[in-house]
Amino acid sequence: MRKIIAGNWKLNLNPTEVRSFLKEWSQLKLTSNHQIVVFPTAISAEATAQSISEFKLNLEWGLQNSWVETKGAFTGENSSQMAQAMGARWSLIGHSERRSLLGESDELLNRKLHSAVQLGLQPMFCIGEGLEERKSNRTFAVLAQQLENGLKAFSVNSEIVIAYEPVWAIGTGVVATPEQVTETHLWIHQWLQDRSFAQARILYGGSVKPENAQQLLHIPHVDGLLVGGASLKPADFFRIAQA
Ligand code: PEP
Repeated sequence: MRKIIAGNWKLNLNPTEVRSFLKEWSQLKLTSNHQIVVFPTAISAEATAQSISEFKLNLEWGLQNSWVETKGAFTGENSSQMAQAMGARWSLIGHSERRSLLGESDELLNRKLHSAVQLGLQPMFCIGEGLEERKSNRTFAVLAQQLENGLKAFSVNSEIVIAYEPVWAIGTGVVATPEQVTETHLWIHQWLQDRSFAQARILYGGSVKPENAQQLLHIPHVDGLLVGGASLKPADFFRIAQA
């Protein structure tokens, strides 16, 4: 199966910057077979969609956040349906920054996951433990709870894409060790297998850089990478996408 290389642009890259990013991207000749996905801000969604079409890019995109309803009295929120009409195929759900800064609960994330699936979007569901949780050997208990609550009432035939992102590795420059990634991805894989999820892919995220992407992608059950900071420059993201 193809690996997924996803870029979470967070609150970066305005429409003009997205356009020049994607123009530069179009001049880099990607030879890997990876599925490339980017998550722009909602404000830059249109520039993303237009540039993909204009530069004929083999690239998919989705919103970093959207509400559980598709329209109505939800001031300040984004609609997956509107994004989908613009060409979005993905929806990023449960990023640790939304969990911690915006207080998004497992229950809300479960509703968001169902809402994305109902629209035919592919959710990328982020999970991960904090530093204290890892230090006190609670990693698997935390992941089990996030998976249990997030995937409640999910069909086992759904295509599941999980991004395992240890919170202590996000934006810190501290990447999880190969041993930690190996053990945790195997555990998540087993958890999904035990519940008969037939089509699951598990991405790693947290301080992925061009220098460590290759090694991470060779770890069993690492089906791709979710990249924050290093996805903001075309040359860096390209080196990761080529790994
Ligand atoms: C992220 O925010 O999803 C992420 C992985 O960030 P970074 O690559 O910068 O650690």
